[in-house]
Amino acid sequence: MKPTVLSSVVDHDLCIGCGVCAAMCPDNVLEMQFNRFGEYNPFSIGECTKECGICLKVCPFVGGNPDEDAIGQQLFGDVSGIQHRHETGYFLNSYVGYSNVDGHREYGSSGGIATWLLEALLTEGVVDHVICVVPTCDTEGLFAFRVFDTPEDVRTGAGSVYYPVEISAVIRQVLETPGRYAITGLPCFIKAVRLAQNRNKKLRDRVVVTVGLTCGQLKSRHFTDYIAALAGVRGKVMRVHYRGKSPDRPASNYHYTFTTADGEERRIFWNEGIAEAWTNRWFTPHACNYCDDIFAECADVTCMDAWLPEYSKDSRGTSLVLVRSPLVQKVITGGQGGYLDPIPIERVLQSQAGVVEVKRQHMMYRIYLDQEKGSKVPEKRVTPKKPDNHFLRQEVFLKDQMQVASKDLWNSEEPDMQHFREGMRPYLEQVRRSEWISRVIMFPLRMVRQMMRGYRHG
Ligand SMILES: Cc1cc2nc3c(=O)[nH]c(=O)nc-3n(C[C@H](O)[C@H](O)[C@H](O)COP(=O)(O)OP(=O)(O)OC[C@H]3O[C@@H](n4cnc5c(N)ncnc54)[C@H](O)[C@@H]3O)c2cc1C
Repeated sequence: MKPTVLSSVVDHDLCIGCGVCAAMCPDNVLEMQFNRFGEYNPFSIGECTKECGICLKVCPFVGGNPDEDAIGQQLFGDVSGIQHRHETGYFLNSYVGYSNVDGHREYGSSGGIATWLLEALLTEGVVDHVICVVPTCDTEGLFAFRVFDTPEDVRTGAGSVYYPVEISAVIRQVLETPGRYAITGLPCFIKAVRLAQNRNKKLRDRVVVTVGLTCGQLKSRHFTDYIAALAGVRGKVMRVHYRGKSPDRPASNYHYTFTTADGEERRIFWNEGIAEAWTNRWFTPHACNYCDDIFAECADVTCMDAWLPEYSKDSRGTSLVLVRSPLVQKVITGGQGGYLDPIPIERVLQSQAGVVEVKRQHMMYRIYLDQEKGSKVPEKRVTPKKPDNHFLRQEVFLKDQMQVASKDLWNSEEPDMQHFREGMRPYLEQVRRSEWISRVIMFPLRMVRQMMRGYRHG
């Protein structure tokens, strides 16, 4: 029996659950379902007769497939005026701004630019259909990818979805229905779509614009269940809005709103427990540990938050945008209602410095540790290395432990918040201790640096 995505990826906990393998399988024997950790995986629903290996060739986590550098080079390497940085991949231009069209900024996660662009692609006739993610009100999967043909429908998808979604059904729809499509996606999803486009002409011809989202990590379904419980939700969640904005708080302190079947609403802010779970990588799929793509390098355009002091204070939210394809550049330059100013690429990198550190520095050490243990590790664009910085090593080690513990401690059948929190406490205490020691040790160094800066600027 030849290797498949099940034996080579899923069995090693390296699947992100994008669903492109299921869509491309000529035998149709893969179906996307939730595993016991609340993450999507392909499951076998029939016998693999062709043994064609397409499931592996389109998987973003299989070593040996073209990486983001190779895909980016093929797509954008020859574009006139294109630039390249190893952290961002290719880019033509970088912008900061927001949409001024009614509702975009209000309901969008950042400045509403992704929705503005998707609508502009439709109204300007660049595409016939937009594929994005919308709420379903189905408790088995609160969000899903859907195909839309009107700007009004596209607008119902505004906002970030920190919840598993899979793309198999809509990719099958693209393969069945001619037309020009734009699609939104996280870096690994867009990479999988690109790998599939390389293998399938219909997909190559029909998906004409890919809109990437910068990504620090995906989250399992249990992440939403946990935060809902933390917010005091009793009963089934029917709806979640992840990026509520409040005029009296900075954009960075956004809130989640949960709506239950009986109409009860509960709110919880970033600094009331979301940050703890997010930054400590609780409920993050293992595959995310092996993603070195921060800026969706294979996408025609990438949207993200402007996490820079001058913008993140503005509660209305602000977007940063990296444009790679001339087609998208034309829409951005000519579109009505989008306010975008050029911003140096260094500022974009500064805005995502935390994610760059996790996806590059942390990964170097993680892969080093994996190799020491003899675990299967996909090929990545970072060199395995043990960092000299003890605190960085400690941080990676603790966060990896918490990632595993959070999955094991959260029982989706009978969630027990107290049991979960007690299980996580020792890790949190170690994190705090380590942070405190690091601050104390680093204090004299910071003072010296500050004094040196003072001398230089004074
Ligand atoms: C899991 C995740 C992690 C992220 N991590 C970061 C980060 O570390 N740093 C950062 O700056 N930005 C991150 N983002 C991106 C950020 O949250 C915003 O999505 C982005 O700035 C676009 O905002 P906007 O206001 O321009 O878009 P909006 O107008 O809100 O439109 C967003 C569009 O993206 C689609 N969409 C939302 N979620 C998904 C999804 N999961 N998969 C595919 N399409 C989706 C929506 O349907 C909508 O069409 C992340 C997003 C996600 C989903």
